[in-house]
Amino acid sequence: MRTHWNETTRYRSGINRPGARNQVAGSAVLPIVLAILVSCAQIGCQSDGPGEAPGNEATQPNLILISIDTLRPDHLGCYGYERPTSATIDSLAQRGVVFDHAFAQASWTLPSHMSMFTSMYPHTHQVEDQGASLAEGIATAAEALSESGYSTDGFVSWIFLSSRFGFDRGFDRYDEIVPGRKIVDGRPKPFYPDVTTLVDSVLVNFVDAQPTPGTESPFYLFLHIFDPHIDYDPPLEYAQIFDPSLESTERGSFQFLQNYIAGRTAEVPQLPDGALEQIRALYDGEIRHVDDQLSRLFGRLRAQGLLENTIVMLTSDHGEEFMEHGSIEGHQWTLYDEVLHVPLIICFPDGRGAGTRFDPIVQTIDVAPTLLDLAGIPSPETFEGRSLRPILDGKPDLERATTFSQIKRYNQKWALRSREHKLIFTADTEARFAGPIHPGFELYELAVDPTEQDNRFAEGNATADSLKLQLQGWILEKGTDVAGDSPEMTEEEIERLRSVGYIN
Ligand SMILES: [Zn+2]
Repeated sequence: MRTHWNETTRYRSGINRPGARNQVAGSAVLPIVLAILVSCAQIGCQSDGPGEAPGNEATQPNLILISIDTLRPDHLGCYGYERPTSATIDSLAQRGVVFDHAFAQASWTLPSHMSMFTSMYPHTHQVEDQGASLAEGIATAAEALSESGYSTDGFVSWIFLSSRFGFDRGFDRYDEIVPGRKIVDGRPKPFYPDVTTLVDSVLVNFVDAQPTPGTESPFYLFLHIFDPHIDYDPPLEYAQIFDPSLESTERGSFQFLQNYIAGRTAEVPQLPDGALEQIRALYDGEIRHVDDQLSRLFGRLRAQGLLENTIVMLTSDHGEEFMEHGSIEGHQWTLYDEVLHVPLIICFPDGRGAGTRFDPIVQTIDVAPTLLDLAGIPSPETFEGRSLRPILDGKPDLERATTFSQIKRYNQKWALRSREHKLIFTADTEARFAGPIHPGFELYELAVDPTEQDNRFAEGNATADSLKLQLQGWILEKGTDVAGDSPEMTEEEIERLRSVGYIN
């Protein structure tokens, strides 16, 4: 994605960054953290890590969270893709652990990232459109880490992660790259950065700005890389890796693709012959470009000793649609798996669990409690996700049975997903946009219909009734006002919800 940008930086008042020294709180020391440190000591990497800082800093690892926007796991080698898009990410996965069934709480950037930051469902944090911002009193991962002595740096590259929504809460430094223009030779000119610009900024403002070894606090670094998002316009040589015949990135442009986005046109026309494969090649070129830049970033971090006591977590805010349900760039319009399934990789500095793949269903609201848990910090009471550490420790009794996702921007939808089923409820009965909507319930049996094509809800059965009750309970539990047609409930259903504690 390239667009017009301005670069702004926000510093949290009262804290000087970079290089500030914070006193680390005496939090509980987790076995996993000890294991990391023991391992680091064994290979002699503790010398320039946070371990030598005074006080209790030695107990807490550095944390890096990378969110690559619009990244479908099935376009990564480590999730089975046959194209060479992701050598760096694949290497991270080989040295770390991989969650095969991670799902986002929303299918577009703003609410999904806010869920990631706050460990709250979208209808709880309520930052679901451009007019909202995070309410006071809602904790974020960065805030909890900062209060526990971490330095906190965020680098983001799209307006929907702007401080105006409250995303900067808890960050000492929050670099925003937002649409705009740059003054060049006294004249305003469009500024077209991509992931390269973001990595450059991280190298200058984070890596090169690190304090003297032995004097620093543990750090939390968050990176948001917007690039795989539409427009799909990587450097042409990257697109040509996947389609040597491409002579431009025109078919990855929004100008071209908007004609095939179901939410924007009443009837999606047939794509020109070969266009879908060209679009995929451009999208893959974007991923490959991001991956190469991550290699550059990790190389510098490693050279500076900044990976030696550092846990790296990589995920995405949502996937993307390539005509699976009749549309291109479908995220934010639907809740099918192609827009909710995301990668989730955790890489430990001691190689703990290397190569392990985890089967349980997890959610991106689990990211923040996991980060805190790995740092030995209790989750704030407002968090709705769960730490993944019990799963990492091999405790299947804590596996999650279902995930919940929702959108309300263009049409209000709610989804429940188990390993076997997907239930979607669309509250709107009339379209608020150009494309078709599907009011009411949709039920898909994923074992026989993994691409969610055959809606079986009308057939009715015990599974449908049970899932419907569960989804209705989740909606009502939050007391959210549902626009359009509320999910109808009988007195008996309400009583059943009451009996299992969903409502009072
Ligand atoms: Zn996004």
